[in-house]
Amino acid sequence: MAGTDRGDLTRTAILALLGTLGPLSRSEMARELDLSPATVTQLTKELIGHGMLEELDHRPSRGGRPARRLGLVGDAGRALGVKVTADHLVLVDVRLDGEVLGSWQVPYDPAAPDALDHLAGAVESVVRAIPEAPPLLGVGVGVPGSVDDQAVGTVSTPTFGWQAMPVGERLRRRLELPVLVENDVNALAAAERLYGRGRTHRDFLVMTIGRGVGAAIVADGRIYRGARGGAGEFGHLPVDPGGPRCGCGARGCLEAFVGSAGLLAAARARGCAGTGSVAGLARAAEAGDPAAREVFAEAGAILGRAAAGLVNVVDPEVVVVLGEGTAGWPLWRPGFEPALRAQLYPDRRGIPVEVESWGDTSWAQGAAALVLATPFDAAGAAGEQGRLVRARLIEAAL
Ligand SMILES: [Zn+2]
Repeated sequence: MAGTDRGDLTRTAILALLGTLGPLSRSEMARELDLSPATVTQLTKELIGHGMLEELDHRPSRGGRPARRLGLVGDAGRALGVKVTADHLVLVDVRLDGEVLGSWQVPYDPAAPDALDHLAGAVESVVRAIPEAPPLLGVGVGVPGSVDDQAVGTVSTPTFGWQAMPVGERLRRRLELPVLVENDVNALAAAERLYGRGRTHRDFLVMTIGRGVGAAIVADGRIYRGARGGAGEFGHLPVDPGGPRCGCGARGCLEAFVGSAGLLAAARARGCAGTGSVAGLARAAEAGDPAAREVFAEAGAILGRAAAGLVNVVDPEVVVVLGEGTAGWPLWRPGFEPALRAQLYPDRRGIPVEVESWGDTSWAQGAAALVLATPFDAAGAAGEQGRLVRARLIEAAL
């Protein structure tokens, strides 16, 4: 797609607008982007010609003739998302509009000496297995821990024994594809920006519960990463200096109380049934075991107080709760709700807390969203790798 830099920027802005707000009419786009209707008509005609946009339904407009809306073409591109955990990898193949085309799970040991080669090998075999169309725009990788920069991808994860691991560099060299690496909770927030809360909110908080506890802060439409990409380590909020030892080395962190291991330790201390796994403990609670119910309610209360602190500091419009732990949310809620509301600043006590359904592939879908969000990110957060993703999208459309 030849054109001036200004034209390219404007095309990106149109894609960004549709990627974040969903389908719009040409006049709505002109208004949102402060462009002339003639410019929008010309550029959208090109984008339709390149297979990136399509005409959708007619929507009645007030007083005028029905306006035809334009939307993104779902199969203009695809991305692979990879979630790295302490014992396995989850890989998903996702279309531009978020539809999952396939998923894979393989055992993985991040502490092995050749862990990066294994990771690259697993991704490479999936890249070889998927069809050539729609075009693969890149690979997104979600990891627990800190990532210096999405487009560089140097990772530090104490629980894996990873210190400045060159994940992005190694994968790019092996795959010869754009690779974006991000903290896994921030990757979920990127997916929320693209397909979820980001369409209606510019300030929101994502909280995850499960094996670990995490948070991502979306402020003014952008994910807040901090100086070293380590922002949002909510699980290591100090709760009680006399509390249990945490995986980070400190004592009494939030995660040490309400992460999976902390829940099970609390259940054993109370002599509950079903302390082999959180799912077993939840079954005991659902069957009416009062001690098991108490463990979840107490964890909910600890989480609620901590969440109130975070909401008071950040002032989001909404809190979204995600993670494998949300399957047991009805057990957490009786402790969480009163503890949260009691500690909130008075004008924020009504803040909505929305718990989303969760699947095994959700983390990896978040990682794919890092790549899929790039063509729509007019601010260019993904740097040089983002430019390469956009170039692949445009090249494929020609
Ligand atoms: Zn900790």
